[in-house]
Formats: sequence, structure tokens, C-alpha cells
Amino acid sequence: MLKDHADLIASELSEGTGASVALSIVASGMRSGLDIWFHDLEKRQGPIVELRPHGLRAHRVQLRFGNFSRQILKQISEAPAEDIQLARSLVTSIRVEANVEIPGQSLECWTVDDGRFTIAATLKHETTADGGDAIVATCREVIVPLMAAMAELIGYDEIVPEDTSGELEGALSLALVRKRERNPRNRLLCLRVHGYKCYCCGLKPQLKYGPAGKVLEVHHLQPVSQLHEERRYDPKADLVPLCPNCHRAVHTRRPTPYSIEELIIMMDTNVH
Ligand SMILES: [Zn+2]
Ligand SMILES: [Zn+2]
Repeated sequence: MLKDHADLIASELSEGTGASVALSIVASGMRSGLDIWFHDLEKRQGPIVELRPHGLRAHRVQLRFGNFSRQILKQISEAPAEDIQLARSLVTSIRVEANVEIPGQSLECWTVDDGRFTIAATLKHETTADGGDAIVATCREVIVPLMAAMAELIGYDEIVPEDTSGELEGALSLALVRKRERNPRNRLLCLRVHGYKCYCCGLKPQLKYGPAGKVLEVHHLQPVSQLHEERRYDPKADLVPLCPNCHRAVHTRRPTPYSIEELIIMMDTNVH
């Protein structure tokens, strides 16, 4: 039964993390769990997430590093501040009921100091923890953001901006805006924070197009205050999901895109 859900879990993990993810079903007695790691690494060379049944209706999730993770840990120690901020935001986007814990550290301000680093969570379900649906729900709520946080720190799928040097969008360089808008982990965080609908017109593409509806894009807001003073970038507040039409529309004005408020006013005055 779990096997039937494994493909769905793998595709959601790859979409959310921007990396290829490997998954194995682990049987313990009559019950089964999952091990998840990044496909391009041997299982023991990087972060591993273990999902195990915990009592009848809960899952215990633990992220830890394999014994041969030295290279990856070194890479993580060199992660830029913006990537660390996104990784922390992804972890705090997990529902409080999941009881996420990072031993000895706070959820808002953790760092991966060495191979002993671990994150644990426990998620209860209404139904038995052995059902495929419960396992998919735990993956979606807990494991996708945890793995996305690790992918961000490792630097998977770094977007190499095209040469837009010198071009500005508002007060920021076009390359920086594009990089932030195209990062799959930013998209994941943005959808988790704002929900799966267009922030401007309210379209829920998955209701309209079903499985073909994964089309929401990330838009980088540039509040007026940000144009004049140095304000700290915050992925939770400065990125919003837009449908492809609204996203095209805000960017028809250059260099500073229309604000969401301006677009909403234009939409309202053009309804016939
Ligand atoms: Zn829209
Ligand atoms: Zn945009």
C-alpha cells in the first residue's frame, strides 16, 4: 500500500526541494517506515530523514546526518546568510502540532554545527499511522520543508542568473530578484505561508486545472519603503504567490513593477 504512495511522495519532495530525492521503504515487523535522502549522495554522506510509526496514530520524524557527511557539512558551514534565513523559515513553517525540536537550539536561530545535528518531529493523525494517506500527510507537512531546508543549505539547483548586470528592478538588481523568484525552496515557503492561491486575483489553479494546476509563481514584492531605505529582506513577507497572468501583468511596468494594490485597482475598474 505504501508503495503506491511512494511515487507521489518522491515527486512532491523533488518539486519542493529542487533536488532529486531517494526513498526506501523500511519494514520493521508488521509496520513500515521511510528513509529519505538526496539521490546524488550515498545515504551516509548527507542528511537522512527517517519516518517511523509512533504508537497507533502518529509518526516520528528524525533528520540526522550520515557518518560520512564531512564534505556536505563543510558545504553547509559555508552557506550564505540568505540561504540560512530561508532554511530557518522553512522549518518554522511546519505546524506547531508537529512538535519540531532541535536539541539544544532554538527553532528560529539554529545552525548545523557538526554531524550530531538533528531535528525531530512527531505528527499525530486521525487515522492509523500505517495508511498511505497519513504517510503522505506527514511528508507534506514535515519532511518536504525539512529536506528543502537542507537542500537550501547545501545549495542544490543554484539558479545562475542570466547576465542582467546593471539592470535594476525597483531598487534591487534584476538578477537578485529573478534568483529569488525562481528558487524552488522560496516557492515552497511562499505557498506554505500564503496558501495555494494567487495573491492578487485569488485563482486556485489546482481547482481549475486539477493535476495540471501547479502553475503558481513567486513574485518579489518591493514595498515603497524598501526603495528608499535599507530594509532587511524577509522571504516570508517579501515573496507572494501569483498566477502566471497576474505575474505577467505586474511586470508590464518596468523597472518598478506594479504593486499588488495597483493591479487590484486596475482589475476592478476594468471588469465589464
Ligand atoms: Zn492571479
Ligand atoms: Zn515577479
